[in-house]
Amino acid sequence: MYLQVLEELGARWAAVAVAVSVHGLSCFALATHGTDEQKNAWLPDMLGGETIGAYSLSEPQAGSDAAALTCRAQAVEGGYRINGSKAWITNGGKADFYTLFARTSDTGSKGISCFLVPKGTEGLGFGRPEEKMGLHAIPTTSAHYDDAFVPADRRIGSEGQGLPIAFSALDSGRLGIAAVATGLAQAALDEATAYAKERKAFGKAIIDHQASDSSWPTWLPLSIPPAPPTSMLPAARTRASPIRVRPRSRNWSPRMPP
Ligand SMILES: Cc1cc2nc3c(=O)[nH]c(=O)nc-3n(C[C@H](O)[C@H](O)[C@H](O)COP(=O)(O)OP(=O)(O)OC[C@H]3O[C@@H](n4cnc5c(N)ncnc54)[C@H](O)[C@@H]3O)c2cc1C
Repeated sequence: MYLQVLEELGARWAAVAVAVSVHGLSCFALATHGTDEQKNAWLPDMLGGETIGAYSLSEPQAGSDAAALTCRAQAVEGGYRINGSKAWITNGGKADFYTLFARTSDTGSKGISCFLVPKGTEGLGFGRPEEKMGLHAIPTTSAHYDDAFVPADRRIGSEGQGLPIAFSALDSGRLGIAAVATGLAQAALDEATAYAKERKAFGKAIIDHQASDSSWPTWLPLSIPPAPPTSMLPAARTRASPIRVRPRSRNWSPRMPP
């Protein structure tokens, strides 16, 4: 059900869908590894949409190789002092909390811990938003921790448990992004098919020109390798037929705000 919701959101406004997906990703650590006390304190607002989250694992030098992260959380009296930089944070600078993964010891993948850092923490700053090709409605920024203090009760899970928490969150997060992409692709196909039925040339809707030929459309550049002619038009027609698995409202515009 959650993925279907993301798919439908993605079909209309991918940036909103990604923001929702990343928020879910950001709640995962608390929901699955928080104590009852921590969950009671923060989870209702997170799940109720009162607070928006961001997920902060990547660093400039540590993407897929997340175990190489160097942002450090030094244990001090009452909590941790955090120093270092994070990269590519969706909702960066706008979120109410940051699910942060930082190094608490030099034991490789076993030396990373998870924290819930509230917005407004002294010493936490953000870079200017990345200039992305799309998803402009949500910022993606770096974050910089300069001796930022986080109380001990904001560590989620035990020390060293951070990377398994991060990866299990990503397992569900990847499904979310896939659902958004599926919705977006569906909307693009719907638009293209509708236009091909509406646009007329030489007395016919252009989709019928292709159908009457039933071979690979000759207007495509020859450099594109021809697909089997059976694979495309029937697929497009199936999606364009009035029988739909899930009805999709047409009262949206591809020109919705970027
Ligand atoms: C729009 C956008 C939003 C993002 N939002 C977030 C977010 O909210 N929170 C967050 O933490 N991160 C976020 N990210 C970061 C994203 O998770 C990283 O881009 C991803 O982890 C890949 O890391 P990377 O880009 O450093 O590339 P990498 O995958 O680390 O690739 C770097 C190099 O290593 C190579 N490589 C990759 N894997 C292997 C391997 N197994 N063996 C050998 N070589 C390999 C690649 O080919 C490449 O040359 C976002 C990124 C983008 C683009």
